[in-house]
Amino acid sequence: MSEPSIFTRILQGEIPGEIVAQNERVFVLRDIHPQAPVHLLVIPKTQEYANVAELAAGDPALLAEVVAMAQKVAAEHADGDFRLIFNSGAGAGQTVFHVHAHVLAGGLEEKKLV
Ligand code: 5GP
Repeated sequence: MSEPSIFTRILQGEIPGEIVAQNERVFVLRDIHPQAPVHLLVIPKTQEYANVAELAAGDPALLAEVVAMAQKVAAEHADGDFRLIFNSGAGAGQTVFHVHAHVLAGGLEEKKLV
């Protein structure tokens, strides 16, 4: 059994974090270092998948739930338009190896969409 990730510890109430939505299988945490006016993390409650490729291979329905939840919270917290980013691997900037989708919205007028 691996050590609980930082996200699991927040979900379990062990350390503070602002959880803005959840359902049976995913939860949404406000990022502590926001990179946009709205910066939320959509996170499967299970930490068994380290990155999006593992999640897609292991439980594609859960990946679809992550995307659906991203759309839902983007509509609730912004105008419904959003960027969805999965950093995959340390070389791509991933720091927490419990798969999560960054939902970024607002303030992107000047930013190139790549
Ligand atoms: P990654 O770099 O793995 O793609 O994204 C990890 C994200 O988790 C970062 O954007 C970082 O700001 C966020 N993060 C790391 N530790 C915490 C924490 O303790 N609380 C919250 N709310 N976000 C965190």
